Order: sequence, then C-alpha cells, then structure tokens
Amino acid sequence: MKTIKLCSACLLGINCKDNGKNNRNEKIIELTRREILIPVCPEQLGGLPTPRKRARQRKGRIYKESGEDITRNFNRGAKEVLKIAELLGIKEAIFKQRSPSCGVGQIYDGNFSGTVIKGDGVTTALLKKNGIKVISEEEL
Ligand code: SF4
Repeated sequence: MKTIKLCSACLLGINCKDNGKNNRNEKIIELTRREILIPVCPEQLGGLPTPRKRARQRKGRIYKESGEDITRNFNRGAKEVLKIAELLGIKEAIFKQRSPSCGVGQIYDGNFSGTVIKGDGVTTALLKKNGIKVISEEEL
C-alpha cells in the first residue's frame, strides 16, 4: 500500500505562493509515482488570498512588510492542516523549506532581508508538536 503524506501544495506545482506562482519540484513530482502526497497550503487554508503580501516570522508572530500582524491567519491555517492530517491518519509531511508556514528547521528572519535563521514555520511547529514527522524537500 502506498504511504500517504502531506505536502506543501506549491512543491506539487499548485500556484499558491504569495506571488501567485509555485515551487514545482521534480523530485516531489517523481515521488507521487510511489507515494500519495496530499497538497496543502496553510496560508490559503488560513484565509489569505493568492497572490498575497509577503509575510515573515518575528518573535513568534507573523507580520506583513507593512507591519500588519497576520498571526491569526497563520495559526488558523496550521490548525486546518492538522485537521486534514488527523482525518486521514497522516504521520509524515514534506514541506517547503524556509517558508514562515512550512519551513523545517530554517525560516527567513523577520526583516524581509532574505536572512535565514533557525526555526520552524507555524504549521510545521504544530504538526511536530502533534507527533507528525516533517521533512523539507531539501532532505529528499
Ligand atoms: S504556505 Fe507552504 S504550501 Fe503555501 S505557498 Fe507557502 S510554502 Fe507553499
């Protein structure tokens, strides 16, 4: 039986990125031949539009470049993704590295400068807290 995993939707070629594009990754596409990958975009599930303004984590909160705090959307999206995992009994996820939602051990800092710091995206952190193994596409 094929393993079922969650996957950042943008890695599967879904146009859900903040700029309206995707992060299609050929290794991930190849993986769909052997595993069932359920596409999720926590930011869309949190009620944010596509395209949308860039957002970054700062001291545990999420802000747009304008300074608007959109932590609530990120938390809502994370909870919806967890709900999907629980509904389907999913125990593993492959997420997009460095995203404020999906980053795994690395995220961009809060200054919109492209600087990378240690940390998990909001959804990654919630999934890990609930016993779901999360790796990034860079670990494949
Ligand atoms: S929130 Fe995750 S799935 Fe959605 S665009 Fe960003 S990295 Fe991709």
